[in-house]
Amino acid sequence: MTKIPYKIFLSENEVPRNWYNLKAVMKEKPSPMLHPGTLKPCKKEDLAPIFCEAVIEQELNEKDKYIEIPEGIMDFYRMIRPSPLIRAYNLEKALKTPAKIYYKFEGTNTSGSHKLNSAAAQVYYAKEQGITTLTTETGAGQWGTALSMACAYYDIDLIVYMVKVSMNQKPYRKTVMETYGSKVIASPSNTTEIGRKILEENPETGGSLGCAISEALEIAMSTDNCRYVLGSVLDHVILHQTIIGEETKTACEKYGIEPDIMIGCVGGGSNFAGLIAPFMGDKIEGKNNIHFIGVEPASCPTLTRGRYAYDFGDTGKITPLLKMYTLGSGFMPSPDHAGGLRYHGMNPILAKLYHDGYFEARSVEQTKVFEAAKEFMRHEGILPAPESSHAVRVAMDEAKKCCETGEEKTIIFGLSGTGYFDLSAYSSYNAGTMTDYIPTDEDLEKGFATLP
Ligand SMILES: *Cc1c(COP(=O)(O)O)cnc(C)c1O
Repeated sequence: MTKIPYKIFLSENEVPRNWYNLKAVMKEKPSPMLHPGTLKPCKKEDLAPIFCEAVIEQELNEKDKYIEIPEGIMDFYRMIRPSPLIRAYNLEKALKTPAKIYYKFEGTNTSGSHKLNSAAAQVYYAKEQGITTLTTETGAGQWGTALSMACAYYDIDLIVYMVKVSMNQKPYRKTVMETYGSKVIASPSNTTEIGRKILEENPETGGSLGCAISEALEIAMSTDNCRYVLGSVLDHVILHQTIIGEETKTACEKYGIEPDIMIGCVGGGSNFAGLIAPFMGDKIEGKNNIHFIGVEPASCPTLTRGRYAYDFGDTGKITPLLKMYTLGSGFMPSPDHAGGLRYHGMNPILAKLYHDGYFEARSVEQTKVFEAAKEFMRHEGILPAPESSHAVRVAMDEAKKCCETGEEKTIIFGLSGTGYFDLSAYSSYNAGTMTDYIPTDEDLEKGFATLP
């Protein structure tokens, strides 16, 4: 048998040309998105003032299993893809495990994460439609950075509402976005009605993701030729991220790799769903029996302790209602260092699959996550994002189990990004000042009380 290379890169003619639409394969479909006013399923017209037409089509598409990636997006993907599938030979040796560990590394582009896969697609479609300005929010900053890169490439103006506390914590994120040409505004701001109202009530507030979403939406709806873009949670974002899984599957088929376990971290669900989509589709069709594990922070336990219910996507309660696992849009996560995983809800496709028992969810505490991150970087040489390190933790745990049982399981996990902007978190871990916060049932009840 051919020895598996340390890094598997697909060549240009092997690179997949389609996204994988999991909804087309699901036997039972996820419940539809509801209009917050009428409580009827959202139609194209309802979403058209907010989103670009092509992504609305994708959001509502339950028919086509494969959706061809337009050449204009492939041009961008060629700059940043394919990403490598890496065999963690060094980590395996260090753990003395009989397991075979692979990771699909999405952190090789300048933005440092998988988010660019959807940013490029969404900006391309906006350009095709003649949109001239896009707005968005960013919390931890990865999404804003990815979108800034894509907007620079396709030449579209971008306004980013960045949560004020994050802006103060990660000033260089702002610099990167501005260098790509974006306008970055600390939220809440006095540039919107909702921002002015929040500031009047609470001048000292550090802002929140929910508030930044409300500001970005307000500008999108009141500006000509302007639309809003979102970096996770929605089905079209998941669709764009399936390029990760499509490449992984092609590589697996080429080298005869058959995963027993696939693992990813889950915030809104996009990198995990993107990685597993074609494998999950096969599982639904009875072609494999892979054990999928989504990993979330114990501080924001959406799947493991949340409710399966309709809820708003934002704190301001202006978005359509999504049927998902949720902690309540009013849930206030603790200041955990994995900013990208601090979201109260979950993508509706993943939520439905989880509800129907197609995958396992596990929650882990942040000090355990950083412990795994440090061990991983010593052996594999990559400084992982705190978000991605949740997947590293569980991959290592599963590999250690194989030490006990002697099973040669094949594990593939998603390494969604790098952690160069998260060094204050690493400092805190190194200094021994990092703590673990796990919400009590009473804390969660407060969030559930905000469910509509
Ligand atoms: C945003 C982010 C996540 C979480 O978002 P998902 O939509 O759940 O993938 C995970 N990892 C990194 C590196 C991120 O930037």
